[in-house]
Amino acid sequence: MAELRLILGDQLHAGHSWYRDKRPDVIYLLAELRQESQYVKHHIQKLLAFFAAMRRFAEALRSAGHRVEYVRIGDADSALSLPALIEHAMTQWQCGAFAYQLPDEWRLDQQLRELAERLRALGKQVSCHDSEHFYGQREAVQDFFAGKSYRMEYFYRHLRKRHAVLLTVSGEPLGGQWNYDADNRERWDGDPAVPVESWRQQDLRSLHQEIIAAGIPHFGESLAEAFPWPTTRRMAQADLRSFIHHRLPYFGRFQDTMVDGQPWLFHSRLSFALNAKLLSPQEVVNAAVAAHADEPDRYPLAAVEGFVRQILGWREYVRGVYWARMPGYRQSNVLMHQRPLPWWFWTGETKMRCLQQAITGSLQNAYAHHIQRLMVTGNFALLAGCDPDAVDDWYLGIYIDAIEWVELPNTRGMSQFADGGLLGSKPYVSGGAYLHRMGDHCAQCHYAVNQKTGDRSCPFNSLYWHFIDRHADRWLVNQRMRPIVRGWQKRSDADRAAVLAQAQQHLLAIETL
Ligand code: FAD
Ligand code: SF4
Repeated sequence: MAELRLILGDQLHAGHSWYRDKRPDVIYLLAELRQESQYVKHHIQKLLAFFAAMRRFAEALRSAGHRVEYVRIGDADSALSLPALIEHAMTQWQCGAFAYQLPDEWRLDQQLRELAERLRALGKQVSCHDSEHFYGQREAVQDFFAGKSYRMEYFYRHLRKRHAVLLTVSGEPLGGQWNYDADNRERWDGDPAVPVESWRQQDLRSLHQEIIAAGIPHFGESLAEAFPWPTTRRMAQADLRSFIHHRLPYFGRFQDTMVDGQPWLFHSRLSFALNAKLLSPQEVVNAAVAAHADEPDRYPLAAVEGFVRQILGWREYVRGVYWARMPGYRQSNVLMHQRPLPWWFWTGETKMRCLQQAITGSLQNAYAHHIQRLMVTGNFALLAGCDPDAVDDWYLGIYIDAIEWVELPNTRGMSQFADGGLLGSKPYVSGGAYLHRMGDHCAQCHYAVNQKTGDRSCPFNSLYWHFIDRHADRWLVNQRMRPIVRGWQKRSDADRAAVLAQAQQHLLAIETL
């Protein structure tokens, strides 16, 4: 009897132990499913990237001698749910066994667990395998903190030690410090120049037409004529080499900066390749560490540690938080925010230059760098009190790298504080002054960053104090926020009333800001 093995769209890991042997009795199944294409409205580049990468992965498996069955988005079977498709395939090809890799999303995990029970009841063999991608197991964060408060920094240090990353022979952190974040907050004034790299240009027009013909809702620029994102492992490896050579040297220093007309700066753009598993986190971390070991002057420790912390630290940490807290995490909304997301999040048509740049860039490239996601779009949505469900759907749809296990903790937790501080001990909020310090958008903005009141006052300024004021009771019991509330409460009644009235005015006119 044959064994059916499922490969999900984000399980394109060519080095998985499944593929070591060619077995004539094994059928690999990949499917472009409507259930995956429509659970939120996706950016068209995200659909193109996943489908193209899945198709190429299937071709590579076939060329290596494996048997592969593939369902395209236009095929009738793409309308089936994942469990229905598998049951149908098992009957069609007379399979006595079903195997799958641990999915990264709770939703798919549930579907596959329930299916596995049904199949076992029918006498079929079912096996579940590790995806062999992450450094640790799903339960790693929960086990490590065991009831104590979660903090990324401790988990990161634990992983550095466990995997001997950037350590001396005696097990101390290289350079004497675990964290060089304080060195990584420079503003960029044009020097060094951002490298101009010619991106690859794949022609994905026929796939784009298939998606349109199948009626899958989508938005954003397609770039289908000259598609830049990697869709094979070889392309992803080339992107990694290019990042290490051109941008890693400056990664840390300018990690938090925002520049008009510069969507990437010195960021790696590797998140899609990592999340689709075209690259492994270990090979990315090892490449950065090796660069520092070979050429420490060109690749300073602060740059390399800053980059390693994103992957070995944040990426592994948010995955662990997700598995520790699902499914309830999806509903968390401790601040009870309910405002609809302004429509201009879908068009970029706002007079606020920082938001216009972050949103237009996202619509054009299915990408924004971390500080734009956190301190521009996320900051605004939180200050304005937008409903985390709507905020989640936006982030989950718009970014090329958005898969729920990584999007949800970043959005609900880190960005919207909807989990009440599980992921970060204080909300990531700021007025215009921080955005002005870290970027150059304010110079071209309709609003005046140094004004708190008046029609042209920067909305971030009054909305920041509105946010502090409306949740003051909560912040007074938060050690890190208390001094801010105390400072606010010491201001004159007239001053506070004027700022709050201005915030109300901006909120009333939110759609036209
Ligand atoms: P770089 O800045 O070059 O960082 C290198 C790598 O580190 C990234 O490719 C990514 O794999 C990892 N990384 C960095 N920060 C984080 C983080 N906070 N959590 C997890 N991994 C991290 N990342 C996603 O992969 N998918 C998402 O859906 C996603 N949604 C986000 C939503 C919000 C509100 C915020 C604030 C952040 C989100 N992030 C998400 C994290 C981060 O912004 C992106 O990983 C990063 O911007 C991707 O660009 P890059 O590859 O150039 O990253
Ligand atoms: Fe953004 Fe305010 Fe600066 Fe305008 S003035 S770019 S809204 S921070």
